[in-house]
Amino acid sequence: MTLPRLAAHALFVFLATPCVLRAAPVPPPPPPPPVVLLTSLALDGQGGRLREARIGVVDGRIVTLTATPAQGARVIDLRGYTVLPGWIDTHVHLAYHFDRTGRIATESESPLDTANGIAAGAWDSLMAGFTTVQSVGDPSEGPLRDAIRDHGFPGPRVLTSLGWIEGDAATSDDALRGMVRERKAQGADLIKIFASSSQRVGALPTFTERQLRVLCDEARAVGLRSMVHAYRSQVSAAAHAGCSEIEHATYASREDIEAAVAAGAYLSPQVGLVVQNYIENKERYIGVGNYSEAGMQTMLHDLPEDERVCSIAVHTPNSKVVFSTDATAGAHGRNAEEFIGRVERCGQSPMAALVSANSLAAEALGLGDQIGRLVPGLEADIIALDGDPLQDLAAVRRVVFVMRGGVVYKWAGAPAAKGGRSGAAPSHAARPARP
Ligand SMILES: [Zn+2]
Repeated sequence: MTLPRLAAHALFVFLATPCVLRAAPVPPPPPPPPVVLLTSLALDGQGGRLREARIGVVDGRIVTLTATPAQGARVIDLRGYTVLPGWIDTHVHLAYHFDRTGRIATESESPLDTANGIAAGAWDSLMAGFTTVQSVGDPSEGPLRDAIRDHGFPGPRVLTSLGWIEGDAATSDDALRGMVRERKAQGADLIKIFASSSQRVGALPTFTERQLRVLCDEARAVGLRSMVHAYRSQVSAAAHAGCSEIEHATYASREDIEAAVAAGAYLSPQVGLVVQNYIENKERYIGVGNYSEAGMQTMLHDLPEDERVCSIAVHTPNSKVVFSTDATAGAHGRNAEEFIGRVERCGQSPMAALVSANSLAAEALGLGDQIGRLVPGLEADIIALDGDPLQDLAAVRRVVFVMRGGVVYKWAGAPAAKGGRSGAAPSHAARPARP
């Protein structure tokens, strides 16, 4: 057919089509094949140890802990490693990354570089054993979440606030409710609220307790959880306001922490990664936004404050101190440093620190019946460490195996290294970890 005839034909087809052309949605990827994971030591994500479990995975879910390898099931031998549920970080910023010049990316970056940056942060998190992250928040986290969930794009399961809610004591109740409903309409999984200004600019209160109640009540009314960035007495204000999770809590008193515990709020002080990462990379940040030398020095100087608050929190009976790193550019993929901070700087037990990123974090996200435990019926989000983190905590840095939803994304096991392991080859779904 000549080009003019082709064009005419196409035009005819177009005109003859009675309604708007509508393509079928791209189908999701096929379910992963069945897998049996042989283990010698596994942690179940809720404080228990499993010996010699054989974890059967079908259609992306755990179906049994006593599997007999079925015909056609792939067998992966994780004996000699420590197996546990994929970790969950309830507070990251995947959108934050360094640009081509090595500086914190700004809005002047090209859209493609921006997309690559967020995808790389997601991949690095997954490779570090974090199979679920809650990213709070940037609008670009929405398309990333959807691509991973619906189209097999590699990365952790993502929940996102898409943005955050800021204001001051003069912001009207109607405006506050409107902001919550707008996020809901945009597809947010939770609401992120700033109840205090940044630590770099004074950590001063923004909203009143009454305003926080308006926001957190409205979030609950539309079916969303609320996460509040709070310092000092804003911690107890957010707790009294019925908000779900309280972040940072720097400069809070023991009474503020106890108020949060009494209210049943999840608490997440950070001691192991975020400030250290800012200091290590400060020349990449300073000069952009509110990143200044003085602000960086304040964070470093006040790190013992975070440690004090964290220590009070983990030692307060019935507290729910959930895993949360606030990872930003430079920190994605190093989230496990927070485990080491929790144990070394707050005096938490290694098991409690690990559980805070498994069943406790899953519960905090409202996903306790889907992820965070090695139990039949849950999603097969499973990782393995080279070493036993209860004996040698640094093993959290040595993630050799990552499965999310039954798909193997990382398997760096060496057949000879552990003596007689069967030597499963890397999955076709895996791509090599970035050096
Ligand atoms: Zn944050």
